[in-house]
Amino acid sequence: MASDITDVWVYTESNEDRLTLRSLGLGFAEGQQGQWLRMHADAKALDALNSSGLTYRLARREMVHEGGHLSPEEMVDALTDLAEDHPASAELVHLGWSVEDRPVLGLRISHTDAPARRVRILGAHHGDETASAEVALQTARDLLLDPTDSYGSWLDEHEVWVVPHVNPDGIAELSRYNANEVDLNRNYGFMWSETEFRPGDSAFSEPETRNIRAMGAWTSAGLGLSVHAGATNLGWVWNYTEARTDDEELLEHIATAYAEDCTTDDFWITNGADWYITNGDTTDWSYGRYGTLDFTLEVSDHKHPSTVRMEQVRDEHSDAIQRVIQWPWWIAGQVTNQDTARGIPAVLTIEGIDQPVLTGPDGTFSRPIGEDVVQVSIDSPGFASVEVEIDPDGAPVEIQMAPQILSSVRPSPRVLDSSGMFTLSGDATSVVLGRPGHDSVEATRSESRWQVDSALLQPGPWDVTIDGAPSPRSLIVPEEDERVRIAAHWTEAESLYISFDELNQGLHAWALLGSHRSMLPLRVVESSDDTVRLDISSVPSEPYDLVIWHSGRQLFIQDAQEDSDLADDDSSLPGDDSGDTGGPLGEDDDAPAESDDGEDTDDDNTPEMDADRSVPASVVGENAKLTAGCNTAPGYPAFLWLVSLLGLIRMRSGQCDIYRSF
Ligand SMILES: [Zn+2]
Repeated sequence: MASDITDVWVYTESNEDRLTLRSLGLGFAEGQQGQWLRMHADAKALDALNSSGLTYRLARREMVHEGGHLSPEEMVDALTDLAEDHPASAELVHLGWSVEDRPVLGLRISHTDAPARRVRILGAHHGDETASAEVALQTARDLLLDPTDSYGSWLDEHEVWVVPHVNPDGIAELSRYNANEVDLNRNYGFMWSETEFRPGDSAFSEPETRNIRAMGAWTSAGLGLSVHAGATNLGWVWNYTEARTDDEELLEHIATAYAEDCTTDDFWITNGADWYITNGDTTDWSYGRYGTLDFTLEVSDHKHPSTVRMEQVRDEHSDAIQRVIQWPWWIAGQVTNQDTARGIPAVLTIEGIDQPVLTGPDGTFSRPIGEDVVQVSIDSPGFASVEVEIDPDGAPVEIQMAPQILSSVRPSPRVLDSSGMFTLSGDATSVVLGRPGHDSVEATRSESRWQVDSALLQPGPWDVTIDGAPSPRSLIVPEEDERVRIAAHWTEAESLYISFDELNQGLHAWALLGSHRSMLPLRVVESSDDTVRLDISSVPSEPYDLVIWHSGRQLFIQDAQEDSDLADDDSSLPGDDSGDTGGPLGEDDDAPAESDDGEDTDDDNTPEMDADRSVPASVVGENAKLTAGCNTAPGYPAFLWLVSLLGLIRMRSGQCDIYRSF
């Protein structure tokens, strides 16, 4: 892989030189020595460099040390062992696959099901930067083994996600790129640019970045470290522009704290763009999309150090990472529907800070902040906006919102297939789909139906505004993958069973309830190799849809309270006959055409059952999965709703406590 790439050092004396360099099509390789910048170039870029007049010299290849890092397979074993050795503190989560079908695994580390703060640590976006993966893994070990009790009781209240190998294929080849030769840290969907070096065909074109995109929405981290190697610094957003965010002072403050405790020689801190401008990187995306304070951490001049040096690198960063994880000032809490106390997704805007913060799907949020009390306004479609003051002490606050009148017109079916066609339960002249952090998409009338360009919609629930009136989370875009197909689902007493062709570790599920569509986390009671049992004792006796995050994919079952008979009746499976999806489309015209004036709360109406019972309503959702996408390309992840892991549970029933609801 990447055999035609040459590493070069380029001398840049002035800003003009840097601008020239940026125009040549080389890629920034995270190295700097004085005025010299380390770049990588393919043959074409090298030609451009030759004729540019800039001074450069070829870089020596870094020595590859065998012993200093784990292979993808060894990392799987290491994470699995950590989870098995610490069942009360760590859950192993299958986050999806790489291009070459290697599993991408993460650990959720916490002692509580309801953490106040969430931190995310990602390693090895670049597979040749093995030091980054080892530092991420060391952080997991520090948290779990904690021989000196340095984290103390911190994990009793908070949570850290660790993903050492974002790019396992790159690790296997010691290549910066993934197996499609794409630079994953230029492939994220915020200010993505095709002018970058190997940024992919489009934003999130790669399965590895889609895995993280999905994780981002589900885990709603408030603070993140994206770990790299090749330099020794800590950088903060933005990277795509030299313009400063309103968080500049806070970000620099946190970075300064890191540098104080980091013992790497000549460690320095910088605004990302001041170092080098890049588009489509992880941290711009997580800050620009979710408001996560995300940093790029460069841990070592050598990208893949020897075993001995690697040991030192781990030690040099251990205290500094701990200090940042334990940053003292945060805001944290949950946004809820005041009538039902259930969590609702919302957007928080902190006074004086332009960049909003998105809650997780269950309304929880957390984020580092300065030392002062902050004024926060909260918005969520279908609810009256509120303003609150929040102390920076990080104690979780509950923010209640009053439900408002919703649109009396509803879309159907609620799970969109790839045609993007749906019907409305009443007349309308304007239909717009929206979602926090995403561009709105207008639907157009197509005879008696409406249609939206489903290619513009990332997976997950979308709010629909019909003639100006909201209908929150009433259209759902599924994310198909043949590897995570639901075979059947059925209800027995207070349990919902879902069987899969194959079940991986770390499934999370929510019930989408009521007209305001709150998200109620469902506890995983137990699981086997192919079937998971969810506790639905807290679900009111009303129809509900199910949202599942599994292996980096988002699955939905419309009207999950109805048993699916698909498993017993394979002959009726639609195969690629999308007509089956079309059938229920019409018949499942269950939108509550009547009603829904403002009094409704989460406990009333929701879609009624089908008038025509010849087709189980659930078939709509199922067929959407079985027929519609089934992209053979690895996934098409995207957003997500939270989750809790069932982790390694594998029928070990004593571990229900691992489940977390957020
Ligand atoms: Zn890197």
